[in-house]
Amino acid sequence: MKLSWKQGKHHKLPNISSSYVTLCVLQGLSAWAATSCSLLLAAWLNYYLSDNGFIKEPNQTYDYIVVGAGTSGCVLAAKLAGSNSKVLVIEAGGEPPWYSWIPLIAPILQGSQQHDWRFRTVPQKFAAGALHGNQAFWPQGKMVGGSGQMNFLIHTTGSPGDFDSWKVPGWDSQTMKNTLEGLTCWTKGNRVNATEKPLLKAFLDAGRACGHSVSDMDRWSDTGSFMASHNTIDGLAGQRWSTYLSHLMPAMKTHNNLHVLTKSSVTKLVWKRNKVIGIQYLDNDGRIKHVKATREVILSAGTIKTTQILQQSGVGPPHVLEPLDIPIKVDLPVGENLQDHLQVPLFVELNSSVSMNVIKMLNPRQFWNYMVHGKGALATSGIEGIATLTKTRENGKSSKPYGMLILFNMGSINADVYTSVANIKKEAFHRWFPKSSSLSQEGFVLISVCLHPRSRGHVRIISTDPTQPPEIDPAYLNHEYDVQCSIDTIKQGVELLNTDAFRALGAKLHWPTFPECGGKQGSDNQRYMECLVRTAALTMYHPAGTAAMGREDNPDAVVDPELRVRGVTGLRVVDASVLPRLPSGPPNSVLIAIADRAADFILEEKINIKK
Ligand SMILES: Cc1cc2nc3c(=O)[nH]c(=O)nc-3n(C[C@H](O)[C@H](O)[C@H](O)COP(=O)(O)OP(=O)(O)OC[C@H]3O[C@@H](n4cnc5c(N)ncnc54)[C@H](O)[C@@H]3O)c2cc1C
Repeated sequence: MKLSWKQGKHHKLPNISSSYVTLCVLQGLSAWAATSCSLLLAAWLNYYLSDNGFIKEPNQTYDYIVVGAGTSGCVLAAKLAGSNSKVLVIEAGGEPPWYSWIPLIAPILQGSQQHDWRFRTVPQKFAAGALHGNQAFWPQGKMVGGSGQMNFLIHTTGSPGDFDSWKVPGWDSQTMKNTLEGLTCWTKGNRVNATEKPLLKAFLDAGRACGHSVSDMDRWSDTGSFMASHNTIDGLAGQRWSTYLSHLMPAMKTHNNLHVLTKSSVTKLVWKRNKVIGIQYLDNDGRIKHVKATREVILSAGTIKTTQILQQSGVGPPHVLEPLDIPIKVDLPVGENLQDHLQVPLFVELNSSVSMNVIKMLNPRQFWNYMVHGKGALATSGIEGIATLTKTRENGKSSKPYGMLILFNMGSINADVYTSVANIKKEAFHRWFPKSSSLSQEGFVLISVCLHPRSRGHVRIISTDPTQPPEIDPAYLNHEYDVQCSIDTIKQGVELLNTDAFRALGAKLHWPTFPECGGKQGSDNQRYMECLVRTAALTMYHPAGTAAMGREDNPDAVVDPELRVRGVTGLRVVDASVLPRLPSGPPNSVLIAIADRAADFILEEKINIKK
């Protein structure tokens, strides 16, 4: 069969985002400067994005259908296409907007009708006090590149103990180390020199002064360390290094057996008895269509949508499917075990000119430096340092990594943008970040993350209409451990600010003055600290675990160690939903490694069948 590669190939100039221009104007950049900068950036980025090829109509049949062109789907599809199999990638969103390639302005993608699924949780009983209706907004990418096209680009590999604790054959720490080492794309030209970054230097010096080790990012260890953050940015061009750019785009250019269909949303799996033989989807005009897969359908639609597709197709627990009269194909705990990292961001004011702020960011020299050299503030995510914590100050004992501190170099935060994307009440914001609305404020945000939360929630469909979002309940802070773990992490951060390194910069932490948390703020007031965490903890955007992998005899496992859905054939899941437990850090790079291994499993199976 001749595949119709490049049939629907289209070149288009990227749109100049109205939200970006609005942001520029909001921040005081004059209209002419905003327009000329935007045009130049658009032209420059279009150079990189030209020659992409997408199809408009798929063929009737493929060997493999990959649902979702996100972090995982792009890696998987690229590797499958390299084996000469006929591969269809079907993606609900369109091509990413040009500004998604500029690392620093990623947050403006959140809340976008076109590029963000805009999920929201149900009201949280024990958390989210600073949010309207106690509901967290959960942005998730809806475009080629997925959430990896809108994320904050932090690269971490987890720690060896993370993988060993899964106890899943084939996913031990040594295997993951080998896989991660083979995937070096994220370090392309992206080495950080701490001596050129005074704030990062202070962070590392403070860590050392507090008795922590300081090391290089590539270190693979269970003992904590402070380090410069390596971000998934192409350090040569200064652009986001998503898996669309690193994997899918090159594969599309070299393999005419790889088809990518956008703006087409998969609604259900198509079955022949207990074998998946294809998918049903809604095209861009809302018409129901079908495509067949001779070998496999692989769900890489992200934790929420993969769960939804499985449940809509009859793969899930009876208590979810029966009330909706969905015939059960296989009874599996799909949608349970939902987990997410929570972050508590605190604002630290400085009296030295060492941080980034809006005035500095909008200096025309920044734009020039970015466009000509791919350098400067726009070429960064603002995340400069990260620290994995393994021992508490109180008992000094070493444990597995439990907390992470992140240094986000940004002194001024736009109240309108931040409150709207994170659903924060305006009054709470001003009590939380009192000075940061000033465009020239010096300071940074110290982010504390509890790495291994024990609270578990769920994703459940509540309608048979696939366009209705499912019920999302992360059950934040249901487990007491998560509260104490967050408090311990914040306390470690506060310690840093009392070192000479930060005192020299005039560092002053603003304890939020939330009325519900009482009058005495500070880390020695346990009641205040608990209230702070329950009020100010926000999503870190890492939903995972709803189709967890596990051994054959594990009743909580949805997929087997090779990521095949148990009890059926022709169906695999490869995305964040297969994580049994979140790694010790943001998961994007771990998901890349998982997708790479999944492609190997699939290709090995193909070879074995041929034999
Ligand atoms: C704002 C934000 C910041 C983050 N920051 C970081 C960070 O700094 N570092 C880090 O490591 N991680 C970060 N993460 C998390 C990380 O990006 C995600 O864990 C990762 O991208 C998830 O990959 P995935 O393959 O599971 O899903 P995704 O990348 O979300 O991909 C799923 C894809 O499937 C598509 N899809 C969904 N439903 C359908 C359907 N029915 N039909 C067709 N296509 C469909 C989606 O549109 C999407 O493109 C962040 C995430 C967000 C949202």
